[in-house]
Amino acid sequence: MTEFDYIIVGAGTAGCVLAARLSEDPAARVLLLEAGGAERTRAMTMPDAWPDLLGSAADWADVTSAQADAGPVPYPRGRALGGSGAINAMAHIRGHQAVYDGWAAAGAPGWGFADLLPYFRRSEHAEGRDPSVRGTTGPVQVAAVPGPDRHPVAVAFAQALLQIGCPASDDLSGSGQDGVAWADLAIAGGRRVSPADAYLAPAMGRPNLTVSPGCLVTGLQVRDDRCTGVSYLRDGTLAQARASEEVIVCAGAVGSPHLLLLSGIGPARQLRDLGIDLAADLPSVGRNFQDHPVVLACYATPEPLPRSRYNHGEMYAALRSPLAGACPDLHLFPILLPAAPAGRQPPDAGYALAASVVAPDSRGTVQLAAADPQMAPVINPGFLRDGRDTDRLEAGLVLIRQATACLAFFSQIRAAEAHPRPDVTTGARLRAWIRGTVGSYWHPAGTCRMGPDIDPDAVVDPQLRVRGITGLRVADASVMPVIPNAPLNATVLAIAEKAASLITGRD
Ligand SMILES: Cc1cc2nc3c(=O)[nH]c(=O)nc-3n(C[C@H](O)[C@H](O)[C@H](O)COP(=O)(O)OP(=O)(O)OC[C@H]3O[C@@H](n4cnc5c(N)ncnc54)[C@H](O)[C@@H]3O)c2cc1C
Repeated sequence: MTEFDYIIVGAGTAGCVLAARLSEDPAARVLLLEAGGAERTRAMTMPDAWPDLLGSAADWADVTSAQADAGPVPYPRGRALGGSGAINAMAHIRGHQAVYDGWAAAGAPGWGFADLLPYFRRSEHAEGRDPSVRGTTGPVQVAAVPGPDRHPVAVAFAQALLQIGCPASDDLSGSGQDGVAWADLAIAGGRRVSPADAYLAPAMGRPNLTVSPGCLVTGLQVRDDRCTGVSYLRDGTLAQARASEEVIVCAGAVGSPHLLLLSGIGPARQLRDLGIDLAADLPSVGRNFQDHPVVLACYATPEPLPRSRYNHGEMYAALRSPLAGACPDLHLFPILLPAAPAGRQPPDAGYALAASVVAPDSRGTVQLAAADPQMAPVINPGFLRDGRDTDRLEAGLVLIRQATACLAFFSQIRAAEAHPRPDVTTGARLRAWIRGTVGSYWHPAGTCRMGPDIDPDAVVDPQLRVRGITGLRVADASVMPVIPNAPLNATVLAIAEKAASLITGRD
């Protein structure tokens, strides 16, 4: 048994930020436990190699339960120093300001956009952006693909979207958050900037920070409503560590509810049925699961295309379907590789154009499959449970087809639609394609959502403290009450920066 002041579970995006910030105080003894390894492979470094990480040792390589009519959907999440931030596609985009203002209005005071702005800025170094809203000195260096390097398909798609009347945005993380944009990517000097590179590496030499990869945390120890430490498996041996101040769970929107449930923090009946002793009856642990569903239109080209030297995406359009509320609810982006939905044959040469619902109405769950911590939980993002999300994806596919039919596109790119195929024109057949092939943008969120003390469905309070247990916080993508309408990494960095301030009392 070893004792620390703070134990952080999970060295992903949030865990790296917290380990670095909490260990800035030389008197604070910090332990960071990570199930994955410390290896930093070539694919984790070179931006264009990120697809090779899917299914690698740095990926939990989960699958969901059956989704819509598509069956189980592949569900990668990072398992390494840097977590999902070490295997992701590196897009660095904030959600729309209205999303965070919605969090505050729904009972999370201190989490509106103006409250979060200092933490967004603290985390990033965005060269050439508006410094009144973007960070210029933070650890995560980000930039858009420079003009001469842009991939021809991404350029043609951007021009075509503008030609059919979509707005342009200079910076989706700036003041104009609607439109076609060359988004920032966490790439500097031709290399990925993961949360481990940006935050953990510079802190690694501190004598008060212990980083332990290869440690699967199997349970939180709770005595008299206080979390006193954790148990974990290392090389098949069970070990324990005690926390004199706090345990901070940063295991991600799948891993965090999984660990809480294994530790008896969750819906009493479900836990009792699995023979798990109850520590706190919190019915909403694992509920409110949100993710961005994706559908693809896939194109075959007569010749192989040049290879993207960046993230095989480069350009992102935040657009509004007829169902949009206060912010854009659709993302359109290219996949600059021959691609197809799971189970379909990609063309020999080509690319895909993707539509994603970034303000979904559907909700899902993460639940225990068994009380065995080494068994994956049941992951059900609930894609297309709400028919409005199918309507939005249909609107996205229609926009993609309008764009590819316009002169700006087909004068530059010769291609044939391989999936769903040009003869799939009716609404019913398009919807069947969507329901049969829906996949994920891989942005799980919301499974330990924050809310006010009076809200029985809140798992953590606005200080991120788990209700009913002292000495325990959750700080990662799982605390988001509503998923932002953008990839999540930039928001998770800001959440973790704010969590560090809440814990230390330092601003
Ligand atoms: C393939 C892929 C592509 C993506 N692309 C983008 C993108 O381009 N842009 C973007 O903004 N977002 C992207 N995302 C999402 C983004 O990376 C995540 O939202 C973000 O990293 C989540 O951070 P987190 O700290 O909540 O969780 P994670 O970064 O997932 O960290 C959780 C960590 O906890 C560890 N862990 C879990 N359980 C345990 C346990 N019991 N014991 C010990 N350790 C444990 C995990 O191994 C992991 O390292 C992508 C995600 C994936 C998977």
